[in-house]
Amino acid sequence: MHNHNQPLVVCWGMGQDSTGMIIGLKERNITPDLIIVADVGSERPETYQFRPIFDDWLESVGFPKSVSVRYQPKNYKHWPPYYSLLENCLTNVTLPSLAYGYHTCSAKWKITPINKYVYGLRWAQECWARGEKILKAIGFDDSPHEKRRAERGRQTFAIQNDERDKYELWFPLQDWGWTREHCVEAIKRAGLLVPPKSSCYFCPAMKPFEVDTLGEKELKTIVVIEARTRQRHLSHAAAKGWPKGEGVPLCDGLWRQAVKGTRGGTPKPGNMTQYIRDNELLPAGEIDRIIAATPHELLTQSDFNRLGFSNWQDWLDHLCEPALDESQGQLQLAI
Ligand code: SF4
Repeated sequence: MHNHNQPLVVCWGMGQDSTGMIIGLKERNITPDLIIVADVGSERPETYQFRPIFDDWLESVGFPKSVSVRYQPKNYKHWPPYYSLLENCLTNVTLPSLAYGYHTCSAKWKITPINKYVYGLRWAQECWARGEKILKAIGFDDSPHEKRRAERGRQTFAIQNDERDKYELWFPLQDWGWTREHCVEAIKRAGLLVPPKSSCYFCPAMKPFEVDTLGEKELKTIVVIEARTRQRHLSHAAAKGWPKGEGVPLCDGLWRQAVKGTRGGTPKPGNMTQYIRDNELLPAGEIDRIIAATPHELLTQSDFNRLGFSNWQDWLDHLCEPALDESQGQLQLAI
């Protein structure tokens, strides 16, 4: 599949599959021209900690260090301006599009900034001027689920329609027959600690056991995201005239609708907050306090200033950071 004269761009998600893929390329003496990370700004802390470690490894084997890019909107309809997918959701009182059954967050936050960056590179322009395509390597593994994603991807994902004449997609892990386990083995062979699976820590595609592994601040932020959109979803349901308790709202939360788990699926509620509450991942009192403190309407600049914060990060730090009150020996929130 890979021809050594064709420029190779590798999309690195900082997780297990794409890290294994890059190590597999090294083992096959295939050197990428660019290793690029589309950072949505909302990965797990452990994922961000892995990046400099892997960059050192890349440098040690003669590969280029990774380049990180991020989607930067030009116009904001609502306040405050946002710089990550999380802030995008909070500003616009919405959930990641996957919660509504769409895939636009990935297209907007990942594909667009990568293509924009590559477009500005001289060797990329030279490649296109020769009438050739850049090979774009994506770390979908050799499982049936990822094969279906790759098939869909050849039509809709990872290449936007207007880029079809510029890129050719390559799924090396599928060519090599590598599953997630092969990737983990490759990471260990390279002498590296295995990073967590990468995704936004509030991704609707997360499984319940993945929520169990989140830290306190990430869990609290999930409560905030769902609390912020709850009223909007209920209003939407009321506007549609849906009877109370049926069809619930537009969606019930990040997991959209509850799953009973009757056909072999894992049972889960439609919102992660309920799961966090049911499994006592956070104290119920703290969940209630965060829900009550989260504004659910769209905000103007003066609304936001009245709350006393200049951006979402300020506000989340204040709301979600725990402070240990040693006199009582229990966690108390800083707010
Ligand atoms: S990890 Fe999930 S929430 Fe984040 S961009 Fe991808 S699909 Fe959207």
